[in-house]
Amino acid sequence: ESVMAGENYEDDMDAKQKSQDLAEKSALEELQEVRRSLPIYTYRDDLLKAVEEHQVLVIVGDTGSGKTTQIPQYLHEAGYTKRGKVGCTQPRRVAAMSVAARVAQEMGVKLGHEVGYSIRFEDCTSDKTVLKYMTDGMLLRELLGEPDLASYSVVIVDEAHERTLSTDILFGLVKDIARFRPDLKLLISSATMDAEKFSDYFDTAPIFSFPGRRYPVEINYTSAPEADYMDAAIVTVLTIHVREPLGDILVFFTGQEEIETAEEILKHRIRGLGTKIRELIICPIYANLPSELQAKIFEPTPDGARKVVLATNIAETSLTIDGIKYVVDPGFSKMKSYNPRTGMESLLITPISKASATQRAGRAGRTSAGKCYRLYTAFNYNNDLEENTVPEVQRTNLASVVLALKSLGIHDLINFDFMDPPPAEALVKSLELLFALGALNKLGELTKAGRRMAEFPLDPMLSKMIVVSDKYKCSDEIISIAAMLSIGGSIFYRPKDKQVHADNARMNFHTGNVGDHIALLKVYSSWKETNYSTQWCYENYIQVRSMKRARDIRDQLEGLLERVEIEISSNLNELDSVRKSIVAGFFPHTAKLQKNGSYRTVKHPQTVHIHPNSGLSQVLPRWVVYHELVLTSKEYMRQVTELKPEWLIELAPHYYQLKDVEDAASKKMPKGAGKAAM
Ligand code: ADP
Ligand code: MG
Repeated sequence: ESVMAGENYEDDMDAKQKSQDLAEKSALEELQEVRRSLPIYTYRDDLLKAVEEHQVLVIVGDTGSGKTTQIPQYLHEAGYTKRGKVGCTQPRRVAAMSVAARVAQEMGVKLGHEVGYSIRFEDCTSDKTVLKYMTDGMLLRELLGEPDLASYSVVIVDEAHERTLSTDILFGLVKDIARFRPDLKLLISSATMDAEKFSDYFDTAPIFSFPGRRYPVEINYTSAPEADYMDAAIVTVLTIHVREPLGDILVFFTGQEEIETAEEILKHRIRGLGTKIRELIICPIYANLPSELQAKIFEPTPDGARKVVLATNIAETSLTIDGIKYVVDPGFSKMKSYNPRTGMESLLITPISKASATQRAGRAGRTSAGKCYRLYTAFNYNNDLEENTVPEVQRTNLASVVLALKSLGIHDLINFDFMDPPPAEALVKSLELLFALGALNKLGELTKAGRRMAEFPLDPMLSKMIVVSDKYKCSDEIISIAAMLSIGGSIFYRPKDKQVHADNARMNFHTGNVGDHIALLKVYSSWKETNYSTQWCYENYIQVRSMKRARDIRDQLEGLLERVEIEISSNLNELDSVRKSIVAGFFPHTAKLQKNGSYRTVKHPQTVHIHPNSGLSQVLPRWVVYHELVLTSKEYMRQVTELKPEWLIELAPHYYQLKDVEDAASKKMPKGAGKAAM
C-alpha cells in the first residue's frame, strides 16, 4: 500500500511538474513570438550570410530593432559558439546586465550559465557561457590576459556610435587581431549614425544596414529658454499626464541625484493633485540602480495607468523601453571634460549634441506616433548644439588606457591607430603622469610598480595608492578606502524630513577632522565590526547597497593584492601612513588654501573649493589632497584630506620642487585663519 501511495504521490508531482513545464514552455513560446516580431528578424538569414562571407561587418539599425539581443542568439543558432564564445560589448554596465538577463530569459537558461555578463567588479559567467555581454572596458582588461582573444569566435563591438574611450581603444586592438586571426569574426554595431566612418576605419568593411520601425514624432520646443530645467521637466510631465492620451513618458536627466530629486518632487506634486487623476508610476533608471529595480522599467504598464521613466543617457540608445509615447528632453547630459594643459578632469553638465537630441526624440516613436518635448528653443537647437558628441578619447584623461596599452606591449602611442586621435598634448600629459607615478621609466617603459598597477581595474592614481600602501604597511586600510571611493553611488542618504539626524550621523565619522578618506575608512570598518549589519546602516543613514558593493569591490582588491604579492597589513595607529599612501597616488590633486577661503591647485593654479559635503568644509586645512573635481555652481573638490606639504617633495620628487610647496603665506596666515575667512 505504501508503495502505491508513493507512486500516487510521484504521479502527482509529475503532473505538477508537467503543468509547470507547460507554463514555462508557453512563456518561452511567447518570447519566441516576440523575437520573430522584431525588425531585425526579417533580415536574419541575410545577416548570417553576410557574416559568413565577410570577416568584418558594420551593422546599422535603429535603436530597439533587436541588434543587441538578437544578433548573438542568431550567431549561436548558426553554430558560431561551437568554435568559441560570442562576446558583445556595451558602453554601460546597466545595459550589459539587463540585456544579458533578457537574452537568458529568451533562451530559457539561467543567467550566468550559457548567457552571462561581465562588468567591473562583477563576473556573472561560468565555463558554460557562450554568449557573453560585457562592458567595453572589461574586454579591454581581458585582452591583457588573452591578447589574441583566442577564446572568442565572434566579437561584437556594440553601440559603437557611443564612442567611449574603451570602445575607441578596442577598435584599434581588434582591428589588429582580426588581421592575424582570420577565423575571428568582428561585428561593429551601431545605431543609425557614422556607418561610413566605421566602414572606412575598418578597411572599407561592408555595411549591413536594415530599416527599423519608426513612427512620426512631433517635436515641440519651448518658446523661451528655461531657467530651471528640473522644474520645466516636472511641469511638462504633469501636463502630459493630465492632458494627453495614455502612453508612457521618458524623461532624460543627467544623473542619479537629479533623478532622485525629480522623483521626490513628482511624488509630492502628484499627491497634491488628488485622487481624480490616473495613476502615474515613476520608474528611475541609472547606472547604480540595483538590478531588481532596473527590471521594473520593462514591466508592462497596467491598464489605465501611465508610467514615467526618469533616465540618464542610458535610455538614449543602450536600453529600449517599450511603450514610450512621450519624450521630455531637457537637452543636457553629464560629460567628462579634460583640460590637457593642466591635466585636470572634471564632470560637467553639458548641452547634448543634435545627434543625441535626434536619438532621444526617436524613443517616442517606436511603437506608435509620439511626441517629443524639447525644453529648449528651436533657435537654441539650430544654433548652439554641436552636430555630434565629441568622442570621449578627445576629452578625457588617458592615463589609464595608456597604462593598459603599455602593458599590452604597445609603445608607440603617437602612431596608434585611433579612429579620432586624442590631442597629442593629452597623450604627453598622461605619459608624464605615469612617469611621475613611477609606472613608467624615463624611456617610457613599464616599471615593476607600473606592472603591478596595471593589475588593478582602477584609475592609475588609485592603483598607485594601493601599490604604495605596501611600503607603509597599511594595505588593509587603503583597499577599504579604494573600494569606498569606487562605489560610484552615494554612501550617505539624507531624507528630507530627517536631514539634521542624517547630518549628525555623517559628522560622527568625521570626529577629529580626520578628512574624508579616513571618514570613509571609519564607515567601512565600523560596518565590518557590526558584522555587516543592515540595521547599523539604517541607524547611521548609510546606503546598505553601497556598502555591500564596497565589500564586493574590496574582496576583489584583496584578491588582486595577492596577485601582485602585497601582503595585507594594517597600521591603524599611524593614520599618517594611510594619508601618505593617498598622497603618493593623488599628489597631482593637491591644493592650497587662499586668504579668501578658496583653494588654488598647486601645480596648474586654478581656483577650487571644498565640497560642502566634505567633513573639512568648515575646517579649511592649509594643504589638501582631493579625489576628484566636480563642477556644479563652482569647481568643487570631492573627498578631501589634509596633507603636510613636505610629503609632496618626499613622495613625488619628479613632480614637485621646493618652490611649489614653500609656504610663503604661512607667516601672514595664523592658524584658524581659514575659519575666520568663512
Ligand atoms: P537594439 O540593440 O537594436 O537597440 P535590443 O536588442 O536592445 O535592440 O532590443 C530589442 C527588443 O527587446 C526591444 O523591443 C526591447 O524592448 C526588448 N528588450 C530588450 N531588453 C529587454 C528587457 N530587459 N526586458 C524586456 N524587453 C527587453
Ligand atoms: Mg542595442
